[in-house]
Amino acid sequence: MNSIKQNLVQIKSTIPEHVTLVAVSKTKPVTDLMEAYEAGQRIFGENKIQEMTDKWEEMPKDIQWHMIGHVQTNKVKFMAPFVSLIHGVDSLKLLQEIDKQALKNNRVIDCLLQIHIAEEETKFGLDEKELALLLASEDFHNLKNIQILGLMGMATFTENQNQIKKEFTHLKSIFDSLQATKTVNCNLNTVSMGMSGDYQLAIECGSTMVRIGSSIFGGR
Ligand SMILES: *Cc1c(COP(=O)(O)O)cnc(C)c1O
Repeated sequence: MNSIKQNLVQIKSTIPEHVTLVAVSKTKPVTDLMEAYEAGQRIFGENKIQEMTDKWEEMPKDIQWHMIGHVQTNKVKFMAPFVSLIHGVDSLKLLQEIDKQALKNNRVIDCLLQIHIAEEETKFGLDEKELALLLASEDFHNLKNIQILGLMGMATFTENQNQIKKEFTHLKSIFDSLQATKTVNCNLNTVSMGMSGDYQLAIECGSTMVRIGSSIFGGR
């Protein structure tokens, strides 16, 4: 079996320079994360706020922590002091809470809006209409301590490459049309899509940020 370092080197060799690698370390022990850290990795993705906060406390402070999971409003305060990017923002209510906690910490928190691109009903995210309404709303315009860097999406869990490609291409096209219109609180440069099983296809479809877990750290 390859080491975490070998996996990282291998994956990085397949990712172009302009694509950011988020090492998804959820459920993995700090010793595994430190192995990736020693190999040069500085961006880690977690899906539970408590677990991310524990790891943040324990690990070197030059790590950028990305929250990639669904966020409960009442837990935003725990990560507000240190989180570097929140991928799964899918409501105005959540954005307002992030804004409030960011203000308390005297900072601006970067966010991605999660778009529902998959066929499954169960996956979180905004549809295009909800996205347009959110970005046009006065409540959104009034926020001062958040910044939207782009969009995040997860494809349907399927072997059908055409289906996945269609969904990634759809997300990229929503991003492109957003970028073409000037919107307050936005500095659009990030399309977060692609995981261990589909990141190469995601990059072909315009991803600028891939979230890779099991191919680096092994199965969970
Ligand atoms: C777990 C997770 C990943 C990583 O999945 P792998 O298949 O292990 O690469 C990426 N994105 C999200 C939102 C996740 O929850």
